[in-house]
Amino acid sequence: MPKKPIPYYWSSVDWAKLVDEFPPPPFFDEVMADTSDDALLELQNARFLARMKDAWSVPFYRNRWSAVGLEPGDIRGLDDLEKIPTFTSDDIKTSIEAHPPFGDHQNFALETMTAPLKIQSSGGTSGLPRPTLFDPVAWEVQAIQFARAFVAQGSEVGDILQITLTNSLGNTAWCSSTAAQHWSGLVPLTTGSGAVTSSVRQLELAREWGTAGWVAFGEYMKILAETAKTAGIDLKKELPTRFIHTYLGVDTEGHLRKLLEDAWGAPVYDNYGTHEVGLIGYECQQQNGLHVNDDTAVLQITDRETGRALPDGAAGNIVVTSLHRSVPPIIRYNLKDLMYREPREKCACGARTTKLSGFLGRSDEMVKLRATSVYPRAAQDTVQGDERATGEFICVVENVGTGLSARERMTVRVEAKPEVDEGLLRASLLARLADLFGVAVDVDIVPGGSLAPLTGLGGEGKVKRLLDLR
Ligand SMILES: [Zn+2]
Repeated sequence: MPKKPIPYYWSSVDWAKLVDEFPPPPFFDEVMADTSDDALLELQNARFLARMKDAWSVPFYRNRWSAVGLEPGDIRGLDDLEKIPTFTSDDIKTSIEAHPPFGDHQNFALETMTAPLKIQSSGGTSGLPRPTLFDPVAWEVQAIQFARAFVAQGSEVGDILQITLTNSLGNTAWCSSTAAQHWSGLVPLTTGSGAVTSSVRQLELAREWGTAGWVAFGEYMKILAETAKTAGIDLKKELPTRFIHTYLGVDTEGHLRKLLEDAWGAPVYDNYGTHEVGLIGYECQQQNGLHVNDDTAVLQITDRETGRALPDGAAGNIVVTSLHRSVPPIIRYNLKDLMYREPREKCACGARTTKLSGFLGRSDEMVKLRATSVYPRAAQDTVQGDERATGEFICVVENVGTGLSARERMTVRVEAKPEVDEGLLRASLLARLADLFGVAVDVDIVPGGSLAPLTGLGGEGKVKRLLDLR
């Protein structure tokens, strides 16, 4: 017999209340269409104040906020949001180091276990990954966020959804499979990444079992398309693909999207999310900006230097406040991802939400080259847009020279397809990348496939585009 009562999942959630507060599809679109701007603000305000109350009981927030003179009661609503200091993943790392193993920003107790909990994590390129605990409400709301995306992207009840991220420490695969099974009538096929189920087998399963939708990183859908070519599988004729839920990265000119849509003969939808607060935004079939899950998150776009909130349409760091997470609360988390926001308007799909641009880069990957700010991921569009390149690249930054001639140099290593004129490719990339970045960078042409060990292409996480040797 266990010494403590078991916190059963089935009785730990008030399900009727959950779906009333966070409508799953198709009800979310209707609810949002019927909610006035004032009513939405009122709803967000009420949830925000409840989360503030949770957060004041968490040492991480209490200490940070007290240090700047804030007291409970000073923040009366979202209008006061800017008075609250932001935090970054570095602050979480410090919290974990000072209070191992989970940090003082988590407000759960494994000793009492009043609700069933689950650990997921992210990051961890140096040291242990950042853990985040999920209680059933956080878990199910993040699944509802994904379900809204799948339905908006054209999923139908009974569709097989092939999820090519592994159900392991990261939560994208878990959110997708929970969303499919619990909240959208889809049948999750959890093949995992190419490391778990080979790319050929992924394609065979999709062909034999009839995969309608895919969850995958854009780069992996490209690998699958190349694998299909080698294996003699005709993607358009043999696979019944109807939609691809993906994460395109910096694709402002749409090169990667077009390449994938041409190869697969199916629409490709961009999405944006983060481990701690789930799927913040998703494209609908209009492919016209990302719908924000406005009932679960409040977004601010802030100036990279001053931290001040920017008006709609201006690009800056995205700062998120979760409206649904209590375990742990997430208040003004600076994700350091560059995006811009569009005001709430009725979309042709029927939903009426705030919208987000696609991903524009990571501000903590910014490299200063001769006083110019350069965002390495921005090279994606240029490289993907050149037919002679495989589309794979990595930016290598290093210190060169000594004394007065010491400087930082960035070299973009670009994979070429076989039998292209490397000199010509290099010359045109040199010119176009200098134009893009506003400063000259070096270009090295390398053989196709050679960068995978550096970018992590085909592995579990997002591909890396910056190798910082400074
Ligand atoms: Zn829409």
